[in-house]
Amino acid sequence: MNSVVLIMVSLLYLAFLFGVAYWAEKQSEKGKSLVTNPYIYALSLAVYCTAWTFFGSVGRAVTNGIEFLAVFVGPTIMMPLWWLVLRKIIRICKVQRITSIADFISSRYGKNATLGVLVTLICILGVLPYIAIQLKAISSSFLIVAHSSGDQNADNLFWGDLAFYIAVVLSVFTIIFGTRKIDSTERHEGMVTAIAAESIVKLAAFLATGIFVTYIVFDGFGDIFQRASLVPELRKTFVFNNDSDASGWVWHIFLSMTAIMFLPRQFQVAVVENVNEKHLNKAMWLFPLYLLLINIFVIPTALGGELLFTNNTVNPDNYVLAIPLKFNQKILTLFTYIGGFSAATSMIIVETIALSVMVSNNLVMPVVLKNKKIQDHFQGNLSGLVNNIRRTSIALILLLAYLYYKTIAEHYSLVSIGMVSFTAVAQFTPAIIGGIFWKTGNRKGALIGLIAGSIVWFYTLVLPSIVGAGFFPQSIIDHGLFGMEFLKPFSLFGLQGMDNISHGLFWSLLINVGCYLYFSMNSPVSSIEHNQAVIFVDIFQYSEQLEPSAIWRGTAYVRDIKILLSNFFGEKRSEKVLRLFAQKHGLNTKSDRADPKLVGYVEKLLAGVVGTASARIMISSVSKEEKISTEEVISILKSSQELLSANKSLRKKSVELEKATSELKDANEILKRTDKLKDDFLSTVAHEIRTPLTSIRALSEIVYDNPDMEPEEREHFLGTVVKESDRLGRLINQVLDLEKYESGKQKLDKEEVDIQDIIKDVIDTLHQQVKEKSIKLVFIPDRFAPRFEADRDKLMQVVVNLLSNAIKYCEPQKGEIIIATHYVEGCIYTSVQDNGSGIDKRFQRLIFDKFFQAEDQTIKKPKGSGLGLAISKKIIELHNGQIWVESEVGSGSKFTFMISVV
Ligand code: ADP
Repeated sequence: MNSVVLIMVSLLYLAFLFGVAYWAEKQSEKGKSLVTNPYIYALSLAVYCTAWTFFGSVGRAVTNGIEFLAVFVGPTIMMPLWWLVLRKIIRICKVQRITSIADFISSRYGKNATLGVLVTLICILGVLPYIAIQLKAISSSFLIVAHSSGDQNADNLFWGDLAFYIAVVLSVFTIIFGTRKIDSTERHEGMVTAIAAESIVKLAAFLATGIFVTYIVFDGFGDIFQRASLVPELRKTFVFNNDSDASGWVWHIFLSMTAIMFLPRQFQVAVVENVNEKHLNKAMWLFPLYLLLINIFVIPTALGGELLFTNNTVNPDNYVLAIPLKFNQKILTLFTYIGGFSAATSMIIVETIALSVMVSNNLVMPVVLKNKKIQDHFQGNLSGLVNNIRRTSIALILLLAYLYYKTIAEHYSLVSIGMVSFTAVAQFTPAIIGGIFWKTGNRKGALIGLIAGSIVWFYTLVLPSIVGAGFFPQSIIDHGLFGMEFLKPFSLFGLQGMDNISHGLFWSLLINVGCYLYFSMNSPVSSIEHNQAVIFVDIFQYSEQLEPSAIWRGTAYVRDIKILLSNFFGEKRSEKVLRLFAQKHGLNTKSDRADPKLVGYVEKLLAGVVGTASARIMISSVSKEEKISTEEVISILKSSQELLSANKSLRKKSVELEKATSELKDANEILKRTDKLKDDFLSTVAHEIRTPLTSIRALSEIVYDNPDMEPEEREHFLGTVVKESDRLGRLINQVLDLEKYESGKQKLDKEEVDIQDIIKDVIDTLHQQVKEKSIKLVFIPDRFAPRFEADRDKLMQVVVNLLSNAIKYCEPQKGEIIIATHYVEGCIYTSVQDNGSGIDKRFQRLIFDKFFQAEDQTIKKPKGSGLGLAISKKIIELHNGQIWVESEVGSGSKFTFMISVV
C-alpha cells in the first residue's frame, strides 16, 4: 500500500478521534455528558490493551506459549477486589482532589514533596520505554504495510526516521487533547470518549483479523490446532514447559494485578476520570469480558502464523499484519493497521497526559512556587504557566520516548519492555495499599521502600537492557557488579530458576515491602502525616464531613488567599467560588482573617490544579501555620463525627417526639371524649337516681301524712319504696363496680368452675321472671366443655345480665330464649339468643359502652342502668375473653362470650 495513502488514513483516523472528543465535549457543555455512562468508563479502561497487546500477544504466544495470558488473568482476578481497593482510592482522590498517582502517595504521607518527585521519576523511568515501544509499533507496522506494496522509498520518505514524525504529530495531538482545561479534576471528557472509541476500533480490528485467520485461511479452531499438533515445536504454545514457567505465571499475574491500578494511564482513566463510583459495578464484568474477546484469537493467529511462515522469515510480533498481507487482503490489512495504530495512540495519549500532570505538579511547580522571582513574573497568570509547563512536558516526554526508542528499544521485542514497566509501577503497591489500610505506614517507610525497591528494579531489569545497548560493560551481567558474583542482576544473591521479570519483581518488592514495614514501625510521624493517614484509612467514615473542612490551623488573610486563587481561576471566578463557600458555611465575608475552613478549601482547589504538594507550598507562602497536635486532629475528627452522630440522634429524637406528640394528641382526644362521657354519665346516673328517689320520697310522704291509711294500701306503698330503694342500691353498686373495673382495682377470685353449673344456677334464679312473661327457655349444654379457672360470681353476673336483658327485651307470650355452650379448640363459647326487639347495627358496638345510653338518649329503653353490658365486658376481658353481639332489628339478638380455657 502506498505510504502516502497510509499517512492520509492515519491522519484521517486522528481527525476522527478529535471529532469524537470535540463532539463529546460539546455534548457535555449541553449537559448531556457521555462519560456518565458506565459503558464508556469500562471501555476507557481498555486503554490497558496497547500495541503490545495488539501485536505483541501473538509474538509472545509464539515464543512463550500461554504465558501471555497472565497479563489478562491478573486484571480479571483483580476486578472483584476493585470494590474494596479502587473504590476507596477513588473516594480519597475525590475528597482530597488528587489527580495523579504521585499526588496520591505524596498526599498520603504528609503532602510530602520529595515523595511526589520520587514517584514521578519512577513513573517516567518506568513508563518511557513503554511509550517508546508504542512508537516502535506504529512505525514498524507502517513500514510493513508500506513495504508490502513495493514502496521501498518509505524509509527515505521521512528523511530517515518515521518514528520521530509520529512522535511530533502525537505530541501536537495530545497537547490539543489534554491541556484544554487546567483543573485536572475537571475531567477530560473528550479524551475519555475518544479512548472508549479507540477501544472499540482495536477490538473490532483484532477480531476481524482473528476471524480471517481462523475461519478463512484455516478451517476453524479445530483445523488449526490439529495441524499445529503435527508440528512438535508448536506444542509449547499450549502448555507450560516446566515448573518455573508455572511459577513465573503466578508472578506475572500478580504483576499485572498491580499494573491495572497503578500504571499512570490506568490511574488516570480508572480513578481521575471516574465520575461515579457505581460505574465500577459494570466495569467489573465488562472489562474482563473485553479482555476475553481480544484474546480469543491470539493462539489461533500465533499457530496460523507459524504454520504459514516457516523458516522464521517473519517476526511473530508482526503476524497480525503479515497474514492478511500474504493473502493480499488490502482492506483488512488497512483495518488491522488502524487497530494497532489506535491501540498505540490511546496508550500514548493517556500516558503522556498523566505523566505531564505529574511532571508539572510534582517536579516543576514546587520549584516555580518557591522562587519569588518567577512567581512575581507570572503574577496573575499562573494558570497559563501551568498549561505551558504541561504542554512542554508532553512534548518532552514524547521526545525522550523517541530517544529511548532510537537508542535501546530497537533491540527488544515489545513484550519484555512492557513487563519491565509493570515492575516499576508495582513498586507503588506497598505505599498505596499500606497507605489506605494501615495507619502506621509513614513517610520514611514509603520513601525508603520506594527508593530501595526501584534501585533493585533498575539493577535487575533496566541495567541489563542498557548493557545490550552498550551503556554498561557486559561483565556486570556475567560476573556481577565489581566482580561480586552474588550481585549478578539475573540471579541476585544466588537466586536462580526464575525468569528475569519474576526474579526482578521478587527482589524489588521484597526489599521494598521490608523497608516500608520496618521504617514505618520504627520511626516517629509528624502531625500532618498522621492526619493524612487517618483521613486516607478511614475515608468512608470522614468523607462526608471532610469535604469542606480541613484540619488546619494558622493565620491567613482573605486578601492573600483571593490573590492566590485568582492566579489560577481568574478574579471573577475566584470571587464567586469564595462567596459561595462563605455562604454555604456561614462565614463572615467581611473579615480580614481567613477562616481555617476557607483556607483548607482553597488548598484543595489549588491541589486540583497544581497537585497536593505544590498547593501546600502555596498556602504556606501566604499563611503563618501553627502546629496542630495529633490529639487535636483526632479530637477534631471525632467532634465532627460526633456532630454527625449527634445530628443523627437529634433527627431520631425529633421523629420520636413527633410520634409522642401524636400519641399525646390521641390520648388527649380519648380523654376529652371520656371526660364528656363522664359528664354525660353523671347526669344519667343523677337522673337514674332521681327517679326512684322521687317516688320513694312521694310514697313515704303519703304514708307519713296519712297515718290512718288502709293497711293494704300502706303495705303496697311501702313495698314499692323497698323495691325502689333496692333499685337505687343496685344502681349505686353497679356504678361502684364499674369504677373498680376501670381503675383496675377489681381482682378476680378464681376457682375451678363448670360453665354449665353457672348457667343452671342463673336459670334457677331468673326462673320466676321467665315464667311471668311466659317465655320459652331452652338450654343446650356441651358436655365436653371442661372445667376451668374463673371467678364464679363474676361469670354468674355476666350470665344474669345477658339472660335478664333477653327476658327484658322479649315480648311476653311469644318470647323464646336459647342458651347454649360450645367447646371448640380450647375455647368455651356461651351464647344467649332471644327473639326480641333486636339491636340496630349502628348501636351494636356501642351497647358495650358504659355511657352508651347517655350518648344516645333517643333510644327508648326498658328500665335499666345501661351499665350491665359494660360491666359484663369488663369481666369477660379480665378473663382474657371476648364478648360480642349478632343481631338484627325485629328478629332478636344473640350475645356470645368466649373464654379460652387453655
Ligand atoms: P340495661 O341495664 O339498660 O339493659 P345493658 O348494658 O345491659 O343495660 O344494655 C345496654 C343496652 O343494650 C340496652 O339499653 C339495650 O338497648 C341493649 N340491649 C341489651 N340486650 C338486649 C337484647 N337482648 N335485645 C335488645 N336490646 C338489648
